[in-house]
Amino acid sequence: MTVIDEFLQANEQYASHFQKGDLPLPPARKVAVLACMDARLDPARILGLEEGDAHVIRNAGGRAADALRSLVISEQLLGTNTIVIIHHTDCGMLTFTNEQIHDKVKKDLSADADHIAFLPFKDLEQSVRDDIAFLRNSPLIPQNIDIRGFIYDVQTGKLQPVA
Ligand code: ZN
Repeated sequence: MTVIDEFLQANEQYASHFQKGDLPLPPARKVAVLACMDARLDPARILGLEEGDAHVIRNAGGRAADALRSLVISEQLLGTNTIVIIHHTDCGMLTFTNEQIHDKVKKDLSADADHIAFLPFKDLEQSVRDDIAFLRNSPLIPQNIDIRGFIYDVQTGKLQPVA
């Protein structure tokens, strides 16, 4: 059985007792969560989110520059007023540089990704602060939007606020 077969089987289970087909489009809790795509981090479980509660935007590192398009849509069209940024311990983004991934792509794919900023970071807390500042300073994010940053510990399951 491939992973796709497993997914389809799991979905059959899910749909067989699904009762949330009439939820409104805008997130009930008016929040957009921006989190790293790391497989160990499950925003819904960490934060106690149910279907319909929140937008969850994920990318490598949970980086704001890579999520701006979705955040503007979330706020301007779908009424969210809070952004929660979650980076985490042991993040893969701590392990490489832009130059390294640019070189690897050239070598392995014979392609050029030099125009892509992969947004790795060296300091976890600073990366959260940088992303809060990036959004605070963006003319596309209104000042009344509440922006909070956290580090999730993959070993304890706990969220630590970043001031
Ligand atoms: Zn990560």
